[in-house]
Amino acid sequence: PSTDDLPYLRGLNAPQREAVLTLDGPVLVLAGAGTGKTAALTARLAHLLWTRRAYPSEILSVTFTNKAAREMRERVRHHVGDAVEGMPWLGTFHAIGAKMLRRHAELVGLQSNFTILDTDDQLRLLKQLIQANDLDEKRWPARQLGGLIDGWKNKGLTPDMLDAGEAEQFANGKGQSLYQQYQDRLRALNACDFGDLLLHMLTILRTHRDVLETYQQRFRYIMVDEYQDTNSVQYLWLRLLAQERKNICCVGDDDQSIYSWRGAQVENILKFEKDFPGAKVIRLEQNYRSTPHILAAAGAVIANNSGRLGKELWTEIDEGEKVRVIGVWDGPEEARRVGEDIESARIRTGKSLDDFAILVRAQHQTREFEDRFIAIGLPYRIVGGFRFYERAEIRDALAYLRLVHQPSDDLAFERIVNVPKRGLGDKAIAKIHMLARAEGIPLLAAAARILDTDELTPQARRALGNFVGDVARWSSALRAPVAVEDDTAPETRIGQLPHTELAQIILDESGYTAMWQADRTAEAAGRLENLSELVRAMEEYETLGAFLEHVSLVMDNENNADEAKVTIMTIHAAKGLEFDTVFLAGWEEGVFPSQRSLDEGGLASLEEERRLAYVAITRARRLATILHAANRRIYGQWTSSIPSRFVGELPKDHVEEESTMTGGASLWRANWSEHADPFAHVGRGTGRGPGWQRAAAPSSSFTTAPKRVIESRGSAVSLGNKGRDDLSLGMRV
Ligand code: ATP
Ligand code: MG
Repeated sequence: PSTDDLPYLRGLNAPQREAVLTLDGPVLVLAGAGTGKTAALTARLAHLLWTRRAYPSEILSVTFTNKAAREMRERVRHHVGDAVEGMPWLGTFHAIGAKMLRRHAELVGLQSNFTILDTDDQLRLLKQLIQANDLDEKRWPARQLGGLIDGWKNKGLTPDMLDAGEAEQFANGKGQSLYQQYQDRLRALNACDFGDLLLHMLTILRTHRDVLETYQQRFRYIMVDEYQDTNSVQYLWLRLLAQERKNICCVGDDDQSIYSWRGAQVENILKFEKDFPGAKVIRLEQNYRSTPHILAAAGAVIANNSGRLGKELWTEIDEGEKVRVIGVWDGPEEARRVGEDIESARIRTGKSLDDFAILVRAQHQTREFEDRFIAIGLPYRIVGGFRFYERAEIRDALAYLRLVHQPSDDLAFERIVNVPKRGLGDKAIAKIHMLARAEGIPLLAAAARILDTDELTPQARRALGNFVGDVARWSSALRAPVAVEDDTAPETRIGQLPHTELAQIILDESGYTAMWQADRTAEAAGRLENLSELVRAMEEYETLGAFLEHVSLVMDNENNADEAKVTIMTIHAAKGLEFDTVFLAGWEEGVFPSQRSLDEGGLASLEEERRLAYVAITRARRLATILHAANRRIYGQWTSSIPSRFVGELPKDHVEEESTMTGGASLWRANWSEHADPFAHVGRGTGRGPGWQRAAAPSSSFTTAPKRVIESRGSAVSLGNKGRDDLSLGMRV
């Protein structure tokens, strides 16, 4: 029968069909965003099942996320019905690795019911090892070792395979031995970490011919989506498994490689043709997702990268609207503007909230949108991460604040009494609980009382004493007027410590900030950013109590699964997805491209940022709006920001620029950075940000604003700014 009749082929273009129908031999589909790579891969899977070329259990299909795997399963089911039921090998590399490893665990010294450790467990183990090896934990933190081990595992390196240079990276060459000890410990615990799911399986395939041959025979067909983001261990896996039958089809886009920080290697695209000689390379050029304006914008930006494989994209979709570039005054205005645009577009066009997405560069950027959307009652979801106030570091920080605000908050006490680690063991904590129950008093009070007994070991007692003393000091700082040092004035003034400053002090003095600063994993920087974002959020509230009340309301904001919602997520999480209308927030130097990529200074990191910009723009079907703010608060200081270089790379003909800053524009352009936070002392708690303040009273206060003074503590509200003394004193005393 003609293939035209096949339901899953209907509508596919010629090269897509080729990708579906070329079943024998290696195939590489190399094509830009929105050209239907995933669609072709899904059709290929349907075709294999429909034509009974393979049983479901004979196809290995790898997706980048679990969600993508679910979607692919759904679509295939739609075409071929229940034949899809037994698709055991459709999933992420990790999911597939775990499944395989359970079958062969004994070959690497595990039992099939091994546990998979999470990062916390992993760190605890590493810490024990570092101590057992008499290393200074401060100098050689467990997190650093954890990061290195993950990296080695991503490269497919077992301890015996490390070269001297790699081992040298930790504790003067002890890295290798520690890695070995860690693996031994895991084995003794019948456990493995995430990296092991792939690395153990690779070891097994490398060393047990019979197992390798079984899988080589079983997997008649192998398919991989988002191939540009595979790392070495994944590549080695694929190469071994596909080497026999060579029926492997990978689809990807070198311009969308955005996970090199997790070990992904875009070079795997080039290796493919070398390792699978005669591979058929298929290019898809018709884009079915976006308007010409959107494609032109994305294309112009990515054209600035070097060493691209190069691709053409065209579309039959009608013109649509130009890409909008909006300059706003500051972060709160950015969130306000996006909220308003969504509301009015929804009314005007009848679109569902599911059609809107806001994409950010860094997790902490979601906070301003979340707070705004809660305020105006716009339902939203955070994809690929937690809602801001639900993130672990935010909950920890909030627990400190709650305890200081409300000393009887036992849940808060429990959460942070030993975070960061203070050497309080389970026993000590159990004793506090017992006393609290016996006396019917809060845990904090029980902790204070137990210090007068000889129940605790000297070490625990010292640790607890310090903690109880700290909390008492912070609490009184919150309530009573305290002496406030002022760098600019010789006299010490009496005032109430602003709650934002107190929060900063608590985070610093408790050692909580330091805990994350010592952390060298990829997430640590994001957590620190979240913590400063938390302090920034507090500024919008008059008191700590008002802020905590806001947070509990936010937390209570029930998630109704069926309701349509605006999606907020990072660009990384948006890979492979599409939305009718997309807002791209924070396109400023230092935000996007990120400060880290600029500090590293390398071309490679900047080009990865640019690929992110390409991914971001190409998520939009009909309308993309790029926003940049003239001012951001960074570590408590207003700084002027300049639009991202990527904004400058947008093609003028396809872009419509708009600035909400009417009048006085020259004011904010002129050396704004010299003026520290001119409005922090007013607008707080009014629900109106500096944007409003500026419009209402643009001149006097900031033309005389003196240089920024307190930088040392990085606190949110600086106390020592002469130019606003009268006003700020008026508020504080
Ligand atoms: P990305 O690089 O972002 O992962 P992609 O190449 O995987 O994109 P898809 O997500 O498969 O692209 O397809 C993009 C959009 O185009 C989807 O909405 C899909 O349904 C649609 N599409 C794909 N192929 C065709 C086609 N031949 N005709 C009409 N629409 C198509
Ligand atoms: Mg895709």
